[in-house]
Amino acid sequence: MTSQAPPFYFPAPRTQKFCSQCGTEITQRIPPDDNRTRDVCDHCGAIHYQNPRNVVGVLPVLEERILLCRRAIEPRYGKWTLPAGFMELGETTAQGAMRETQEEAGAQIELGPLYTVIDVPHAEQVHFFYLAKVLSEELYPGPESLEATFFHLDDIPWAELAFRTVVTTLEHYITDLKTGVFPVHHYDIPVPFPKH
Ligand SMILES: [Zn+2]
Repeated sequence: MTSQAPPFYFPAPRTQKFCSQCGTEITQRIPPDDNRTRDVCDHCGAIHYQNPRNVVGVLPVLEERILLCRRAIEPRYGKWTLPAGFMELGETTAQGAMRETQEEAGAQIELGPLYTVIDVPHAEQVHFFYLAKVLSEELYPGPESLEATFFHLDDIPWAELAFRTVVTTLEHYITDLKTGVFPVHHYDIPVPFPKH
């Protein structure tokens, strides 16, 4: 059997149609001794648990300027973001944050302390941002970025930022600059629109 590559690839939605163990169509039900609906295979008995994903990134600073990347991918194509992305299997949050910085900005950094931990329940994600010191002006943005550049605090493109976790992390940083103390901030982002 030959297979042809599709015209483009995309991240599959989290909802599964078929059991990854046996190929049977999935049903949604509450399994025995559980209390919420899961994707269940009634043929082989596999329960396909889904759990929140971790997004890991950094707030990179070079001489009072902040490094931002302009996204070359959806969602939020063309918007500015702190370097961040999905944590990969087998890495720590710190390793993931450094990898994303390398991939999206090509920046040399020294990782600092964890700075924000943000629950985003409606997106089924938790975001972690570390403070980081950028070691060189040289940037080599990868294919996920249209460009990467440094912004003075007064020039941050607030209206063009990609995600609310980026906005709030930058807001905390600017507030904390006044005291010079940068504690971990743990909070959540409420749903974008009230549900009726
Ligand atoms: Zn199955």
